[in-house]
Amino acid sequence: MPDNYGKLAYVLLTISTTHRPATDLGFLLHKHPDKVQEFSQSFGTAQVFYPEAGDERCTAALLLDVDPVRLVRSRGASSPDFSLGQYVNDRPYAASSLLASAMAEVFRTARAGRCAARPELPEQAIPLEISLPALPCRGGGVELAHRLFEPLGWQVEAAAVPLDDGFPEWGNSRYVGLTLRGEVRLADALNHLYVLLPVLDDAKHYWVASDEVDKLIRAGEGWLAAHPDRGLITRRYLNRRTALTRAALARLAEVGDDLEDALEPPIEEETAEATTEALAEAMPDGEAAEGLAKEPGGEPTGEPDRPTPLNVLRREAVLAALDEVGARTVIDLGCGSGQLVNALLANKTFTKIAGVDVSAHALTLAARKLKLDRMSDARRARLDLFQGSLTYGDSRFAGYDAAVLMEVVEHLDPPRLPALERVVFGGAKPAHVIVTTPNAEYNVRYETLTGMRHPDHRFEWTRAEFRHWATAVAARYGYQVDYRPVGDDDPELGPPTQMAIFTAGGGDV
Ligand code: SAH
Repeated sequence: MPDNYGKLAYVLLTISTTHRPATDLGFLLHKHPDKVQEFSQSFGTAQVFYPEAGDERCTAALLLDVDPVRLVRSRGASSPDFSLGQYVNDRPYAASSLLASAMAEVFRTARAGRCAARPELPEQAIPLEISLPALPCRGGGVELAHRLFEPLGWQVEAAAVPLDDGFPEWGNSRYVGLTLRGEVRLADALNHLYVLLPVLDDAKHYWVASDEVDKLIRAGEGWLAAHPDRGLITRRYLNRRTALTRAALARLAEVGDDLEDALEPPIEEETAEATTEALAEAMPDGEAAEGLAKEPGGEPTGEPDRPTPLNVLRREAVLAALDEVGARTVIDLGCGSGQLVNALLANKTFTKIAGVDVSAHALTLAARKLKLDRMSDARRARLDLFQGSLTYGDSRFAGYDAAVLMEVVEHLDPPRLPALERVVFGGAKPAHVIVTTPNAEYNVRYETLTGMRHPDHRFEWTRAEFRHWATAVAARYGYQVDYRPVGDDDPELGPPTQMAIFTAGGGDV
């Protein structure tokens, strides 16, 4: 009997680029194009090899050699296919969660966007073509594949795989042959797949522990919060565990994007099983709103069982503060995907609006969300969206009544803060500066939170620390400062978000 009896090897994923030189793909993936490399997995072996590696086009293939015996034996709580059940049969050839977990390990450094040999490479969007010949797409098929990948900038070619080529009358299987094409950073592409493959597969493969929320937030950084299907993605990724899903959506709101509609499961997802599970999980803790804030008065806004997400309260609080100080021209410093800019544009009181961010990716998202290409001339004339860094003096930051730093300061390394203070308070010198930042004291209210609210936060301040910083800045640059709570103002912990309103020359706020 051959010793590979019972083992099956399938190419599950190819990644090609026409970036020049195309062999840079080897640097990016940290896998040399000349070698076949093997990586031992709990369920068998993963192999990476390059079917082509020329200057003009280079392709890396990931192949899984699944050992059914090891697969079954490896069913520990930490194994990716914890409850295989009926799915065991398709695991070897389907681009399932096994592929996602193999990818996570084999391309760990590439997924983190690091490349020691060529540090500038991972930052570039490069032409990519990714093929997955057998992708299970439960509950949505080809259409779901389009829905999930297109908003991320991919051109999607998806075709249902027939059950049996010889018998077309049998219809299609639930597999889709998928090709994605686009100009995307490789790290982003790998993170899209890492999250979306198990979402499409939607089988209960792995034991979802609360650190899955962290993994999801980390892998989804820069794209998940703004994805129109972030609700579906989050629910499915977390195996419809309602408490975890709510925690993750609240954290995504922290990252700074709308999620009003994300909590409402689409009809397609309302299976009996999901509903029962959702009820069972939502009931015991009552405070299903883990991390979702209520209004300062304590009463949730909107429907009683749907508290207003914190990012919405934050945006409203900033708009109210701008109204209070009578600002008509506003610059949003660190505008991210542009949710505040969008709200400012909707209000004609604001005659001149600018959005600035250091991240080109954030600006692309903002342009897409603001529908910049279809915006009316009148609206477009009120808006300026540009790339810039808040730690370097820039004359474009000056000339506005108010500057907003909404959830931005905590993204800077503390030694860089004095530079931001100089640039904003000393250089641009608007009459008003509005700063919001998380209140670290409130973090104990987020049940599943282990570290800070977002992986990119460099610090989170207590109320005392924030006031200490704000008072010193105000004194140094000749401002007066006033504070407002944002969200449920807990008598002991304070509110989830803290806000400072600075006014030049000590005007009365
Ligand atoms: N204000 C937005 C986004 C907050 S996330 C909101 O509340 O929705 C923080 C943003 O600050 C990110 O988009 C990040 O790219 C940006 N940022 C971080 N450091 C920056 C810097 N030095 N200069 C400009 N933008 C910066």
